[in-house]
Amino acid sequence: MLSKYEVVIGLEVHVQLTTDTKIFCHCATRFGNQPNSQTCPVCLGLPGSLPVLNKKVVDYAILTGLATHCSIASRSLLARKNYFYPDLPKGYQISQLELPICEHGRLEIDSPEGERRTIGITRIHMEEDAGKLLHDSGAVSRVDLNRACTPLLEIVSEPDMRSSDEAIAYLKKLHQIVVYLGVCDGNLEEGSFRCDANVSLRPRGQKEFGTRAELKNINSFRFIKQAIDYEVERQADILDEGGRVIQETRLFDTASGTTRSMRGKEEAHDYRYFPDPDLVPLLVSEDWIEEIRNSLPELPETKIDRFVREYGIPRYDAEVLAAERATADYYDALVKEQGNGKLCSNWVMGEVQRALNDSGLPVAECPVAPRQLAGLLKRIEDNTISGKIAKQVFDAMWKSDRDADSIIEEQGLRQVSDLGAIEPIIDQILAANPEQVAEFRAGKEKLLGFFVGQAMKLTKGKANPAALNEVLVKRLKG
Ligand code: ADP
Ligand code: MG
Ligand code: ZN
Repeated sequence: MLSKYEVVIGLEVHVQLTTDTKIFCHCATRFGNQPNSQTCPVCLGLPGSLPVLNKKVVDYAILTGLATHCSIASRSLLARKNYFYPDLPKGYQISQLELPICEHGRLEIDSPEGERRTIGITRIHMEEDAGKLLHDSGAVSRVDLNRACTPLLEIVSEPDMRSSDEAIAYLKKLHQIVVYLGVCDGNLEEGSFRCDANVSLRPRGQKEFGTRAELKNINSFRFIKQAIDYEVERQADILDEGGRVIQETRLFDTASGTTRSMRGKEEAHDYRYFPDPDLVPLLVSEDWIEEIRNSLPELPETKIDRFVREYGIPRYDAEVLAAERATADYYDALVKEQGNGKLCSNWVMGEVQRALNDSGLPVAECPVAPRQLAGLLKRIEDNTISGKIAKQVFDAMWKSDRDADSIIEEQGLRQVSDLGAIEPIIDQILAANPEQVAEFRAGKEKLLGFFVGQAMKLTKGKANPAALNEVLVKRLKG
């Protein structure tokens, strides 16, 4: 049933950058170390200390902006966002408000109905993260400032999404891009990719947006969808009863699957933003932007199109292979060596993926290199071995670092295609199974499978299936 309300969603995503050091000092950004071991006067907010902007953070912001078709500001400002919280020692967060580094971008998503949709990206700005409060010891809370000053990009979308499914499609796409770019490790549980969802409803046909609620910091795609779906129902109930939605910040409770009010929504002016007097305006030259543009990797979308076009594989295969950059690189290298796009995609998505899963290894550490696997696949194509024997050879390669040919020779795995060698084996089988032979000749043709099975058993799978069939049919019918 079509609801009488249209859902409107805009997302703010905080992406934690993979730089080794923090945004305004030289402290390490590593996760999970001894509390406060990665701090200095700057990130502790000690009086008199001065921030210096990390160039790498700007590089990453530009890279992300270019990948999402933003325009890059030649001049942008870092600003103080003032508020008090115990995890923020300076009493303000350095962020950007006016003149952010990137603006006016977009991301294409496929809606669940299979239609292409363009979601606007309002802005991408740089900012520092706050520290973390530890509430583990009961009455007293402690502060860990290792995370203070960790570099973040905030990526703000236009309110262009119309369902929780579209919101998830957008988030997954964005997640894939920042991980592809290498600017974010993409770890949702550790908070490297966090999302605030703004949700409102309006009667269908109405032009103005309704009042939104902002759902804070939810750390899994599934929970984001749950939170939005709950929020849509909650607001629909309010509107149905003639009530008004109030603008507020709400928290999602994973246990109950509901959202609850946290605080009234603050506005930008509540924060008394002003340009940080300790930081000069950031000037980005055309040359700098060009340099970053040249380092832009091929993104999933383009890769998928190229795989389909150049290697002739189905779009589904291309999407699976391109989902992760390392897998795509592996496949690319494999096809370049071997040539048969579909045979290669079957193997990467099949045997290679299975073996990696079993051993818990990432593709980048695959013990069978693309060149070695190509050597194996060539032997399937030239009929030296069957696909089934190839799996056996692959397992041996996995464990030994040897190439396919030496394993095939050593273990005597060459396929037997020579009719002269197959005939005596068939004769032996027919002689041993006179009843089945009689039944076959009386019309029970599906017994052919039985004879093939026997022959495979005797030859340990090495008989060439085509040659085998030819001899069998000749002997049985002749
Ligand atoms: P903040 O939340 O920090 O005040 P903005 O006012 O820029 O920042 O809005 C943040 C997000 O809220 C954006 O992603 C925007 O698309 C989304 N948004 C704004 N108005 C609505 C609305 N009526 N319904 C849903 N999302 C909205
Ligand atoms: Mg917000
Ligand atoms: Zn520091």
